[in-house]
Amino acid sequence: MTDPRIIQRQDHPISRKDIDKDTLYVLYRLKDAGYEAYLVGGAVRDLMLGRKPKDFDIATDARPHELKRLFRNSRVVGRRFRLVHVFFGPKNVEVATLRSGIEPPPGNDPDLYIDDDNQWGDIESDAFRRDFTINALFYDIRSFNVIDYTGALDDLQAHRIRAIGDPAVRFQEDPVRMLRAIKFAARFGCEIEDATHNALLDHAPEILKASRHRVTEEIFRILSQPNREVGLRMMADYGILGALYPEWLDAIGDDGFAQVAAFYAAVDKAAEEDRFFPLEITTCGLFLPFLGEIDLEKDNFNRVAARVTEDLRSMALRMDLPKRLMAQVIDYLRGQLYLLFFHHLTKRVRRFVETPYFDPVWQVHLLAYGQVEDLEGVQTIWAEARKRLGTPVGGTVGGPDKRDIFSFRGRTGGGRFPQGRDGRRGGRGGRQDDDEDGDWPAQSAITADLGEDGAA
Ligand code: ATP
Ligand code: MG
Repeated sequence: MTDPRIIQRQDHPISRKDIDKDTLYVLYRLKDAGYEAYLVGGAVRDLMLGRKPKDFDIATDARPHELKRLFRNSRVVGRRFRLVHVFFGPKNVEVATLRSGIEPPPGNDPDLYIDDDNQWGDIESDAFRRDFTINALFYDIRSFNVIDYTGALDDLQAHRIRAIGDPAVRFQEDPVRMLRAIKFAARFGCEIEDATHNALLDHAPEILKASRHRVTEEIFRILSQPNREVGLRMMADYGILGALYPEWLDAIGDDGFAQVAAFYAAVDKAAEEDRFFPLEITTCGLFLPFLGEIDLEKDNFNRVAARVTEDLRSMALRMDLPKRLMAQVIDYLRGQLYLLFFHHLTKRVRRFVETPYFDPVWQVHLLAYGQVEDLEGVQTIWAEARKRLGTPVGGTVGGPDKRDIFSFRGRTGGGRFPQGRDGRRGGRGGRQDDDEDGDWPAQSAITADLGEDGAA
């Protein structure tokens, strides 16, 4: 037994008015039925930091069957990590029964640990099975106290990511935690505490043992949150990118990596100014170096575009990225070539700015080459032609693109923006990689639409 540190209402900033009202309803309902009920995890962390939580998770000592009885509009979901969704119209609140500390064995066969994460426990055991101290705070609806078993408060205050327990063991149990450490460190501008940092350095290559699907999801979350550039550099410095994407890293080299990092720095800057781009656009950053050096005198658009398409298709397969997403990326990168090769052909300029492809291509261009002085002449031509249309330039989205990268996979869906909240649990319960990715969509929208004849 560890004595927790208790922070009373008057000593912490969490107010009930900052908690989503359906979540609050569930918390009170549980309390009134005599159960323990806590707000947990990321929501408590975010509220303590004065940030607006993305979602609110609840933990309770009520078992799933008791929850089902208590909430008629609810459903038990998940096998490996069973929890209950309580529905409020289209949205739901996730309620998990407090777990004990038993951990899934390492390895990448999720079937091995189906039941292991459904061992019920109490608040203390539940705190210690979480990944990082800052993610292990509880807000008790009975007392409005915040309960800290793991030293989270000190770490929050010091902006420090610290694994709970022995970091080497925790990373081996679930290598995705290494990416989660980087995700939180980058997002909150935290530093990674020494032992956690050393374990990350030691175990980074073991990221290959994790489910490819969960890994890809986390990487794209890191590239879609604030401080993308920092997150990207951390993934590289810890050797995670080298382990996962060796061919990519080899192909782009140091200069290519600098170019990729500069692109994400530009996306970060835009986000700070409240300009956001869809995943199809932000993913282009990873592949800019594949456009290579272009010599407008000697090269031919069709030849370069064919080479780029081929390189990117094979890279996408090695990196296990959804084809539908990559087809868009390839189109937008071919678009970069189009901007370069054809800026002097007035008719093409006029036609291209009128197509729906122009705006996203242009956004990629500005993010990637907006600061390149040599391109000013070319940029003026396209910008003027686009301006003559008199419509606002599109290619942006209203807020950060929260779509999961794998929403681009499968026969239906196709990366459409989800309606409302994505109710799936992030952490442990990643889905299986068994969706159909299908064939490459027809290439290439950009040139096909323009009746491209290949003349350079
Ligand atoms: P975000 O703001 O990105 O949603 P979060 O902390 O809420 O961050 P989730 O992935 O939503 O992260 O998980 C919710 C909580 O579940 C975490 O705060 C953490 O306590 C626990 N958790 C998630 N994944 C793991 C894991 N791999 N190992 C241990 N605990 C985990
Ligand atoms: Mg969360």
